[in-house]
Amino acid sequence: MFRFRVSYKLVTRYSVHWLYCNKLNSPKGFTCVSSRKLTTMVDSQYFLPNDIGVSALDCREAFRLLSPREQLYSHFLSRAAWYGGLAVLLQTSPESSGIYVLLQRLFRGQDPDQLGEVATAAGLSAEEYQAFLVYAAGLYANMGNYKSFGDTKFIPNLPQEKLKALVWRSKAFKESPADMEALWDSCSTRLYSLEERQKQLGLGNKGTTTYFSGNCGLKDAELAQRFLDSKKLSAYNTRLFKKEGGGKTCYEVRLASAVTTDCAVDGEGETCCGRFEFEGCVFTVQRGDYAHLMKKASDNLHKAQGHAANENQRRMLEEYERSFTLGSVDAHKEASRYWIKDKGPIVESYIGFIESYRDPFGSRGEFEGFVAVVNKAMSARFGSLVGSAEVLLPELPWPQAFEKDRFLKPDFTSLDVLTFAGSGIPAGINIPNYDDIRQSEGFKNVSLGNVLAVAYATQKDKLTFLEEEDKDVYIQWKGPSFEVQVGLHELLGHGSGKLFVQDENGKLNFEKEKVVNPETGEPISSWYQGSETWDSKFSTIASSYEECRAECVGLYLCLNKHVLSIFGHEGHDAEEVVYVNWLNMVRAGLLGLEFYTPESQSWRQAHMQARYVILRVLLEAGQGLVTLQECSGADGLPDARISIDRSKIHTVGKVAIEKFLCKLQVHKSTADVEGGRSLYEGYSAVSDSGTHNFTRLRETILLRKEARKMFVQANTKVKGDAVELVEYDGSAAGLIRSFVERFPDDAEEVEAELLALSKKDCSCWC
Ligand code: ZN
Repeated sequence: MFRFRVSYKLVTRYSVHWLYCNKLNSPKGFTCVSSRKLTTMVDSQYFLPNDIGVSALDCREAFRLLSPREQLYSHFLSRAAWYGGLAVLLQTSPESSGIYVLLQRLFRGQDPDQLGEVATAAGLSAEEYQAFLVYAAGLYANMGNYKSFGDTKFIPNLPQEKLKALVWRSKAFKESPADMEALWDSCSTRLYSLEERQKQLGLGNKGTTTYFSGNCGLKDAELAQRFLDSKKLSAYNTRLFKKEGGGKTCYEVRLASAVTTDCAVDGEGETCCGRFEFEGCVFTVQRGDYAHLMKKASDNLHKAQGHAANENQRRMLEEYERSFTLGSVDAHKEASRYWIKDKGPIVESYIGFIESYRDPFGSRGEFEGFVAVVNKAMSARFGSLVGSAEVLLPELPWPQAFEKDRFLKPDFTSLDVLTFAGSGIPAGINIPNYDDIRQSEGFKNVSLGNVLAVAYATQKDKLTFLEEEDKDVYIQWKGPSFEVQVGLHELLGHGSGKLFVQDENGKLNFEKEKVVNPETGEPISSWYQGSETWDSKFSTIASSYEECRAECVGLYLCLNKHVLSIFGHEGHDAEEVVYVNWLNMVRAGLLGLEFYTPESQSWRQAHMQARYVILRVLLEAGQGLVTLQECSGADGLPDARISIDRSKIHTVGKVAIEKFLCKLQVHKSTADVEGGRSLYEGYSAVSDSGTHNFTRLRETILLRKEARKMFVQANTKVKGDAVELVEYDGSAAGLIRSFVERFPDDAEEVEAELLALSKKDCSCWC
């Protein structure tokens, strides 16, 4: 049950805003940020910090265990994703493509290390050069110069003259000075500009967007939407350009496609292209936006078809290919239908114009393409866990009558991302977004294991809220303990527990006379009737409550030696896994406060609310199990420390979770909404009274929130019959190297095409 594609992205997108509201409008008590400091913080919003977290997305084990056919399939899909992903440059800002080409030329000429020597000679300090590397890595990771989470612009944190001096001394410049100078002139002003309208993405005078030409506003967007609706055209793969002339307003709707001709080449008779009068304006619909990139993506999708695992997969790719060739959203929907039927594939992928968060009007999709693979080794461990369900389930703290008559393995796949092209990588996905398909044919939920594993693991110096002596052990055991927790959470957490139900014929699925409520000692007095379900009964709290139950099962069963040995942990190591899993849970509970909105007293993220609830339960257990203290950091600003007494986990901790988990299950089994709600909402409350001031702690959490991490992804290369995985360092330089080697055969051709495309758009901007 990872449903956080939408919530996660939206939450993060808005959190910058919240952070500021908090600082500026804090009702009282938040006086630590002086106005001078605040100014620096506001400014630094437009830089990426030099010490920003950069992690390599580790896919080695999963990739190695694929069959040669599966490796080839992943390779060609990855190629399609990377080519298509370059379209995001053109979807983000007028200057993104130019900056991308500038960087590619610099680093193709000289490796980051070699260019570093040039930088020193050009008078850049080590910090300034690092700032440039971070900027370049950021541009690649976001596929443009606006943050994919938050939509604000970022500029290099070094003076413009210094960057210019570096460019002028570079090998790329020495080899073709005129080209490089022209390139610099075309993008350097906007690269540094923090003009009001360029500070964030937005429509009209609210910001920058390239989904629309610069002269479009909300009215144009609304008019175009009415036009598209009248033609039954989806906006997903389009952009809109407005031209005034001849007394009439003309709009050009560009469809992303490899084919540039405006005729019905698909043999389906009717064409969507042409010239149309609409509400006194002229609309022309034409194909061929990002034509070159769409062609490259289509070609690779075609190659991948030869390595598909089955006919369904092959036809899915055929439809994607048709979609990018013709600019057809209908073909993409058809592909999505095959995609839903492609259940539990070894290599999972999705590609196209998918998420519409970044279109200020919210209807145009940003290109993304991913390839993720089943980690067969991890799946085998999860398989053993399921195999042991029969002996593990009776360990759970509820009477046998509250357990399912027969264990059903929940539908759960954890995949490792091999390739994620686009503006950013989410931790989980829930697609397709087409509502009609979701309702009639369903959707898929996928958890991206290697993304999740590094999302919260972090460098030692940025590991917030932990005691110094806990940091090393935390970093060492975070990954292994996370795997244990995820396996238990998904399989035995969501997979356990019974609901008491009375069907339409009045038949109960439990023995009313025999079953006793362990909380009250009384017989069972409530259950689900007829069409009532868990979600319909518990509605607003259902998903977080269920996540909490699953997390508690993870904490509880990770204490079991048999479970730990399934994951290969014995003796001392096993104890470290337990300790870090529990420590991580209480820290996550604290970090979870970020996702609480005091104004509406509501939680915006089910898992994080669940972890906060668990923190409260463990704090309540007392006896020194969990220690949470507010303090001030080395910088003089508010800080906090959390720790857990490892000697009390098996005693005080276990008893506390046992009792709480039993309560959660009993309310759930018996459809006791009132009891369940009062229990869960009680622990979810965030207030300034009680043993800890959680209102104030929340402000501290927001203050010390880590900047979003960047991920370095591997490349794949065909060598003979085999596919080679090429990996890079988890650093800004590593991220840059991965992009320099990403298009080994046609880098110059692709770059020339990008510049031509961006020049064509530029006439509508500059
Ligand atoms: Zn879950």
